[in-house]
Amino acid sequence: MAEIQIPFEEIMDETAVAVGMMDKYFVYQYCNNKMAELLGLPVKSILGRKQSEVISEMYAKSVGVKIDSDDLKAWLENVERMQSSTTERQFITDTVDGRFFKMQRMTLSDGGHVVLGMDITELEVAKQQLTQLNEVLHEQATTDELTGLSNRRALFDKVTIEFNRAKRLLTPLSLLILDIDFFKKVNDNYGHPVGDRVISQVADVLQKEVREYDLVGRLGGEEYAVVLPNTDAKQAGVVAERMRLSIENTTIEGEQIHIKVTCSFGVAEICASHNDVDDVFLSADKALYKAKQNGRNKVVVA
Ligand code: GH3
Ligand code: MG
Ligand code: MG
Repeated sequence: MAEIQIPFEEIMDETAVAVGMMDKYFVYQYCNNKMAELLGLPVKSILGRKQSEVISEMYAKSVGVKIDSDDLKAWLENVERMQSSTTERQFITDTVDGRFFKMQRMTLSDGGHVVLGMDITELEVAKQQLTQLNEVLHEQATTDELTGLSNRRALFDKVTIEFNRAKRLLTPLSLLILDIDFFKKVNDNYGHPVGDRVISQVADVLQKEVREYDLVGRLGGEEYAVVLPNTDAKQAGVVAERMRLSIENTTIEGEQIHIKVTCSFGVAEICASHNDVDDVFLSADKALYKAKQNGRNKVVVA
């Protein structure tokens, strides 16, 4: 029977896998073209050399594997310690020129090491794009386009989270709903685009008046809500009063127009009779209705 001749060299240089082999002293015994490409050095400057020398050259020339460290010596020591203490490891590495590789390293029975690498750049890039796209979609799904505030849905989500937390931890939580007074007149007198600008500038004023863990959102039209965690009704009333004054003192400037608006506020702190988030909104809404009834430009605490 004829002896089977396997053309290993040819296979190794045609395969999509980067292959490198080192002896137990971490001296390169073999490396195919793909591995040389991954390391950013020619095959001949890899073979017969210690891994630490190869990596040092790679680092000095800013080619090959990206090394996020200012201390190469410590980095190398750490790598060799890991290579000596684990017999098999898989990880992802990226290169200075922006490629990604899924790597596998194994220790052989004679103490030598095999390193394999598979180019997964396309997959990684697609994954990153998907992550970015998801962030954009999330942003769009939770942001009100006109004001940049949280939209109704995001606001309800936030109130729900804070409602459950407050009930669990027995901490106070207040909700504030406000509505621009006689807004229809703004639209009627100046037109819808100017009305939009008013809605947007009132949003800016509100945003400036809150702490970072509060959330301001637009419920729709000329109506907003503010979620105030860890805030009781009295404190929320003070916040609302500050906002009310701030809006009253703001002039909305446009081409040859100076508009002043006021807002009415309804404030509600969660209490035992609130079974869910809708109950809290209802209380704040009732208080807002009273503020309108009492002459507008007022704060009413439920
Ligand atoms: P009140 O003091 O009782 O709140 O009176 P109001 O005129 O503010 O209340 P009303 O609810 O009658 O009017 C709200 C107006 O807001 C009617 C609607 O056309 C207008 N509006 C709703 N959404 C928008 C928007 O996105 N842009 C603009 N410019 N106007 C809007
Ligand atoms: Mg209104
Ligand atoms: Mg309204």
